[in-house]
Amino acid sequence: MNTVVVVGASLAGLRAAETLRGDGYDGRIVFVGAEEQLPYDRPPLSKQLLAGKVEVEQVSLCQGDRLDGLNLDLELGQRATALDLAAREVVVDDRDRISFDGLVIATGASPRQLPGVPPLEGIHLLRTLDDCLAIRADLERVVAGGGRVVIVGAGFIGSEVAATCHAAGAAVTVLEALATPLSRALGEDMGAACGALHYDNAVDLRLGTGVSGFHGTGRVESVLLADGTTVEAELVVVGVGVAPNTEWLGSSGLKIDNGVVCDSTGHAAPGVVAAGDVARWHNPLFETDMRLEHWTNAAEGGIAAARALLAGPDKAEPYAPVPYFWSDQYKTKIQFVGHVHHSDEVRVVDGSVEDRKFLAVYSHAGRIVGALGFSRPKLVLQSRRLIAERLSVDEALAQLS
Ligand code: FAD
Ligand code: NAP
Repeated sequence: MNTVVVVGASLAGLRAAETLRGDGYDGRIVFVGAEEQLPYDRPPLSKQLLAGKVEVEQVSLCQGDRLDGLNLDLELGQRATALDLAAREVVVDDRDRISFDGLVIATGASPRQLPGVPPLEGIHLLRTLDDCLAIRADLERVVAGGGRVVIVGAGFIGSEVAATCHAAGAAVTVLEALATPLSRALGEDMGAACGALHYDNAVDLRLGTGVSGFHGTGRVESVLLADGTTVEAELVVVGVGVAPNTEWLGSSGLKIDNGVVCDSTGHAAPGVVAAGDVARWHNPLFETDMRLEHWTNAAEGGIAAARALLAGPDKAEPYAPVPYFWSDQYKTKIQFVGHVHHSDEVRVVDGSVEDRKFLAVYSHAGRIVGALGFSRPKLVLQSRRLIAERLSVDEALAQLS
């Protein structure tokens, strides 16, 4: 290969570029990103950066001399708008064409918006640095004026932003359509354990609550609920999930199905790999297709995709990670490893949910498939290894004890 094009200048794309160089590829790497900024880290955008505890320079993924030696042709502020697989070219901004021998697709995901949101100031989505800084400025105003923040969605964004706004001194209401928050990611019982953190902190979490509109003149003043009542709001953050950024691949001939469909090595086609939030691939460890929306998968997937590209589809290793994510909410570090099925059995094996310090283990057909910890970092990481070793739940519990 003489030229590799990486589309998506964030975590997965950067890890892929670093791995290409680290593994000895010395051809051209063109690094195309729609955002103007060099790659930066997203987790602090709902936590430390939003809280004002760190500043923009500290969330960069390219601090110091990290980009030196990578020798990237940076094409930032440029959006890939099409892929011509036959010609092996990426079309940028509907105009320029960049030829490639190898392609890494790492275009991530974009937040979904509620239908019919009026153009009022103070209603935000959160994905980018600019989104975070705009929310931070509004939050300062709300705290100073004693106003209320309303969060729509008690998923990861909603829960973390609620905790950060609460710590900043704002009154917070969280509106969630489901009867239990995070139940898709963690199951009913453990989703309820996460919801309890909001109640512990006197945050007004309202479950089974739909939103039907927003009122205000110029700036948002209240949120209209499906039952006809309203909640006052000087700041609204909507966190109702994301969609993978695949629109630019619509006419490419690649298979798109809630993400770029890849084989177990991350190949979407010969010489074309995908990684991070945008990629759906077959994970042989869990014998299922997955698309994950978490930091560790973007980092590990970017590395795996680069190695797969260098090896080629026939020699590449399957990418078979045990998924991992963390979420910091209030004073609790929530960590999860594994993959949840709805029929899993879940049992608390250390500590207690009431104390908000515990490890719960998920099992399926007698095998350990997941573990959730509240402030139990060592046990969670130990569980990750036990899941990778495909142990029975009894063997795993013996080792954990
Ligand atoms: P992204 O980070 O989404 O990057 C994709 C990049 O591609 C973007 O810069 C985008 O502009 C660019 N792009 C898109 N389309 C095009 C195109 N057509 N042409 C060129 N460029 C394009 N995960 C955790 O595990 N723990 C956490 O605590 C955590 N906190 C988070 C907090 C927030 C606020 C957010 C938003 C996410 C958080 N995550 C967390 C999730 C984690 O950050 C993501 O999983 C990770 O960023 C995915 O990386 P990625 O490189 O696949 O995609
Ligand atoms: P998410 O975790 O998918 O949660 C969205 C939540 O909003 C879900 O509970 C969803 O319910 C609910 N919802 C959907 N429509 C709604 C509506 N009309 N009214 C009220 N609630 C509604 O997505 P997110 O919180 O928006 O996060 C965005 C992305 O950032 C995700 O990829 C996430 O993984 C990532 N992120 C990760 C972390 C972390 O890992 N710690 C932190 C922040 C962000 P349904 O399940 O029914 O759709």
